[in-house]
Amino acid sequence: MRVLLLGGTAEARDLARLLVDAEVDVTSSLAGRVARPRLPVGPVRIGGFGGVEGLRTALVGYDVVVDATHPFARGMSANALTACTADAVPLLRFERPGWIPDPAWTYVDSHADAATVASDAGGHVFLTVGRQELARFLPALGQRHVLARVVDEPEIVVPATWSILTSRGPYTLDGDLDLMSVHGIDVLVTKDSGGTYTWSKMQAAARLGARVIVVRRPDPEPGALVVHAVKPALAWVLAQR
Ligand code: NAP
Repeated sequence: MRVLLLGGTAEARDLARLLVDAEVDVTSSLAGRVARPRLPVGPVRIGGFGGVEGLRTALVGYDVVVDATHPFARGMSANALTACTADAVPLLRFERPGWIPDPAWTYVDSHADAATVASDAGGHVFLTVGRQELARFLPALGQRHVLARVVDEPEIVVPATWSILTSRGPYTLDGDLDLMSVHGIDVLVTKDSGGTYTWSKMQAAARLGARVIVVRRPDPEPGALVVHAVKPALAWVLAQR
């Protein structure tokens, strides 16, 4: 049995390790967005497939697919569901749970809404939404003090009032308290990424009294079989043998 594991997340790397340990033939797939990706164990392919049709062509080489992409990578998840349904390839969606909502947080439906709410809130803003989303914040926050933490340098030119910090998690509470204090952060903007790697910024914001704006996850693909933890994901794959 050959498994295609759509990755780009810590959970996908965890699953790849367990599958390799179980001597399952697994190939991890990365989009190629990050300059120096953390590579999972086992074989890896990098780059888009070329939409649904490209993915269907690639699926000839696999028996099952696990979509363990990021909760906000909905394009890839939609393509995986369409392609696997068309070719009757078993598909599992492995998605980490979102954070348990805190009543103090403000949830919004989009990055555009987050930009508006952050602008209205005033003060210094800590953007942790990823490089690809930064442009959406320029109209509302172009004149404001913004600290944007991203894995790779953004392609866009940012205003002089913005600071770019390139780094990648996992982060620590002490580190995030220090960072947010030094930059005088009043507002934190984040996706509802879930997981532990970036949780410390939420704790730091609570300690510092910073406002937290959380972009809700897009709706999951209807009809997908979903698990939220690595153990049931592993069990599902092993049951396909
Ligand atoms: P996306 O918008 O859902 O996908 C756009 C296109 O990128 C897909 O149609 C596909 O291209 C390609 N792609 C995405 N994931 C891929 C994968 N694992 N393997 C091969 N091709 C992939 O995805 P995104 O939000 O840009 O995220 C890209 C990658 O970064 C994902 O692997 C995701 O797990 C990871 N990531 C995303 C975020 C986030 O906030 N969005 C955060 C952390 C990590 P084709 O149509 O050409 O096949």
